[in-house]
Amino acid sequence: MSNPIRVTVWHEYRHEHTSDEVKKLYPDGMHMVMKAAIEEYLGAQVVVRTATLDEPEHGLTDEVLADTDVMTWWGHCAHAEVKDEIVDKVQKRVLEGMGLIVLHSGHYSKILKRLLGTTCSLRWREAAEREIIWCVNGGHPIADGLEDEKFELEHTEMYGEYFDIPAPDEQVFISWFEGGEVFRSGNCWTRGKGRIFYFRPGHETFPIYYNKNVRRVLANSVKWAAPRSSAPVRLDAPCIKEPLAPIAAKHEVDQSLHEH
Ligand code: ZN
Repeated sequence: MSNPIRVTVWHEYRHEHTSDEVKKLYPDGMHMVMKAAIEEYLGAQVVVRTATLDEPEHGLTDEVLADTDVMTWWGHCAHAEVKDEIVDKVQKRVLEGMGLIVLHSGHYSKILKRLLGTTCSLRWREAAEREIIWCVNGGHPIADGLEDEKFELEHTEMYGEYFDIPAPDEQVFISWFEGGEVFRSGNCWTRGKGRIFYFRPGHETFPIYYNKNVRRVLANSVKWAAPRSSAPVRLDAPCIKEPLAPIAAKHEVDQSLHEH
């Protein structure tokens, strides 16, 4: 059996301290419910740790980052407090092959904006409306185990188009909202060697992470995003002075043009 996928569930973990409503829904924090969901569906295939914003280095030390195959990311009110040097390190790990699952209001996180290169803006409304999440890619591993072509959330915050993201490599879910909007709610990209999945559900004042379909998709996405190739890549733009085979041309290099 292969080694378990090493998962780090990262959570901003602020609303649980400031809102009685959120605290009541998630007394131990949303991250603990996400961790349980991933463990529920993946069992011995994973080892899951959590990390939160207010820990030293946001819980993302070099040791933790090196020991993480897939990271999940939930943030909302404190995106700006995430230190740029930590974002740099998470980005590097994604390019090296770490999977990243960005959830709900994490659309505005520094790390997702950095990796996608767009504003990640969207329209939103909190009105406890109904959402139907349509699976538009039933053959995708992230949809594995769903029992219907769609599932519903009775009360959600609305996220609507235009969602300013690069066209996803693969689209797995599209949401319809009671108030009329639609949204690309399950989107896959690859950056470097790393796989990225954005999954929309997860507003903190509704019991979204107790929904069995949301839990299954979260777990599936962790499995999908796990690194699958140990092949080395160079990310430091190396100058290869010695070619693999002889080159016939005689050429003087002006080295000063390459110095910066
Ligand atoms: Zn929200």
